[in-house]
Amino acid sequence: MDFEKVDGFDSLEMSYISDFSGGFISKNYDIFREIELTALNRFILEKSVFGTPIFKLGNGGKRVLISSGVHGNELPPQIANLKLMNEFVNLDIQNTLFFIPFVAPKATMLNSRFFNSIDLNRSSHIKNSLSNVIIETIEELEIDFVGDFHSTAYNSNPGCESVFSSKSPTPESYLIAEYISRDVNCKLLSTDFAGQPYKGAVEDVCNLKGIPAITCEVLSPFSSVGVGSVKRSYIQMKSFLSYLGI
Ligand SMILES: [Zn+2]
Repeated sequence: MDFEKVDGFDSLEMSYISDFSGGFISKNYDIFREIELTALNRFILEKSVFGTPIFKLGNGGKRVLISSGVHGNELPPQIANLKLMNEFVNLDIQNTLFFIPFVAPKATMLNSRFFNSIDLNRSSHIKNSLSNVIIETIEELEIDFVGDFHSTAYNSNPGCESVFSSKSPTPESYLIAEYISRDVNCKLLSTDFAGQPYKGAVEDVCNLKGIPAITCEVLSPFSSVGVGSVKRSYIQMKSFLSYLGI
């Protein structure tokens, strides 16, 4: 996978994960009205029309991925991811951060949980699904840690601010989740073994491959931005990085 330097930003590079998942984020007014139109955000929205962009900042150290938008209608983490990128883009980072703010821009455009009728967090074990392409990218880029950020509504599952992990076969995931849970005061949800009770979550498939990964959830109604939810998601992202010493 080749990355290209992004003009106007010293250490920012980008590439595409897929060219079949693009969408006009600006058509989803519920998210668009919450996005600050910085030069960087405009650039990201423009690139998202043509597929799923991945961004890289810094070199050396730990290789860490922050992803959001696996579920296109979970808006707060996608906005928080942009906020984090805007904060880090001008900093000298001693590590290598990868960002996927919109896993499936088309699903975000449509404000839908599903991408082409597929739940991407139940299909990352299926060859050639968009989330499986993301898993392959994670392996190709030799990413060491994965944080996947979601939101959940009151009457859904898990329905509370939380962090998911599993204890086996990659126990570090549990340690990361325990840290975040204590640090930001959200519920710790863990299973003994990754991929249970359902298969195909990005977090689980990473864990089954030995890559520590967690899923974070903040509370917000689906397809809209709950009060304070962007900030809470941003705080979860910062806590994830803080565990890693970043
Ligand atoms: Zn989700």
